[in-house]
Amino acid sequence: MAKWWEKEPLRFECQADCFKCCLKPGIVYFDDEDVRRVAAYLNCSIRDFKQKYLVREDGYWLHRVEENRPCSFLTFEGCHIHPVKPKQCQTYPFWRELLATKNDWKLAEGFCPGIGRGPMVLVETVRAFLKKFDL
Ligand code: SF4
Ligand code: SF4
Repeated sequence: MAKWWEKEPLRFECQADCFKCCLKPGIVYFDDEDVRRVAAYLNCSIRDFKQKYLVREDGYWLHRVEENRPCSFLTFEGCHIHPVKPKQCQTYPFWRELLATKNDWKLAEGFCPGIGRGPMVLVETVRAFLKKFDL
């Protein structure tokens, strides 16, 4: 059966100087490939990168964003690791949990000002995002 978002075009355009999703307390997951890519970009060893930024929980490497303290990679200019940021960030807001129902997407729209704006996103692109990050 077709998903609701396969029948209704979605629009999204990240808004300049917003950074709300980088300020929100939560978890940023890093798979092994994310770890390798970001550590190389920062010119640091995988071991040092993990030690400095990540914790291991339930078999996952993750970076914790605590209350009143933004993601460690956020700077005044934006994400310091933007070109290589983890898949979770590359694919936001096209996450399975946010696309589960139209209501979930509406709730996400209440948080992210980029949802519902900008160009239509192709269904194939949404599918590719879901495939890329699927926790
Ligand atoms: S909350 Fe939405 S618009 Fe704001 S930075 Fe994140 S993705 Fe972009
Ligand atoms: S890694 Fe970058 S894009 Fe992801 S939450 Fe942190 S600052 Fe934002």
